[in-house]
Amino acid sequence: MYRITTGILLLFLLITACSNEEPSSNNPPTSKEISTQEGTRNINILITKDEEITFEIINKVNASHEKLDQFKKDIVRAYKVITESIQTDYEPADKITIHLLNGNEASSGFRYDIRLYSNFGSDFQLVHELTHTLLGYGDNFDTSNGYLTQEGFAIYMENKYGKKVTPVHTFMRYFIDHNKNIPLQKLIDKKYDHSLFRPLLAETEDYVVQHISYIHAGSFVTYLIDTYGLDKFERLYNKSEPENRLTEIYGMTTVELENEWIQYIKKNITFTSDDRLELDSFYIINSEIDSIDPEIFEKA
Ligand SMILES: [Zn+2]
Repeated sequence: MYRITTGILLLFLLITACSNEEPSSNNPPTSKEISTQEGTRNINILITKDEEITFEIINKVNASHEKLDQFKKDIVRAYKVITESIQTDYEPADKITIHLLNGNEASSGFRYDIRLYSNFGSDFQLVHELTHTLLGYGDNFDTSNGYLTQEGFAIYMENKYGKKVTPVHTFMRYFIDHNKNIPLQKLIDKKYDHSLFRPLLAETEDYVVQHISYIHAGSFVTYLIDTYGLDKFERLYNKSEPENRLTEIYGMTTVELENEWIQYIKKNITFTSDDRLELDSFYIINSEIDSIDPEIFEKA
């Protein structure tokens, strides 16, 4: 459906990615680069200055030399900010291929491959997917540790350092005002979260469920980091038993922490009619949100 593709998919560059790395903060990565021509497609190689990772860029979008040069600079910067953000136990692959692709499918970041779709010419969500690919996701890119912290952190990083800004708190204010916020316990619960972050995508409202779940994750993780810092969040990122961990790290139950987050949004964030025009995907969300199974919004 065109409406879905232009609206919802444009917003999300979802999926996973993973890895952990010892950030080499004393050794800021710039790059060496090698460009070659193979047949009709351009292949570009970029090696991080610390020589930890070789990126191969496969340019299927006929990006110009200037655009590719800029994209390589974007990779260098993204690599630096991500490896200097939090440390995880994941060891990223030493060769990662980044595919620049036409179309509006959801982008993805896995161990060896990052697939970035141009989504009608909008900027690639490189930082989001590279966060997955460098910091790890589950046990080698599975969903054994859920989605909340990994997707939330990828959105936080894309908002802070990337090109695609998603005003997650503004959206949250709208959900809260309309009693359409998803309980944190469902977003963190391994028995339930798959239906939110990876629904079947049969109907338009399934895309909206997925999208708003991502927005919740982004808003919650942004709140956690802004309020309690990256060090505490590092201990929560991509861990098993995330609900127990959360209580152990923050000294609150999930419900108590959720209440604090919601109160913060209510107190500090507004949602005005002007915001409706500013928010990508707002009209799709607004038109579909009442079609979503109301059980999703009920407290567990
Ligand atoms: Zn993602």
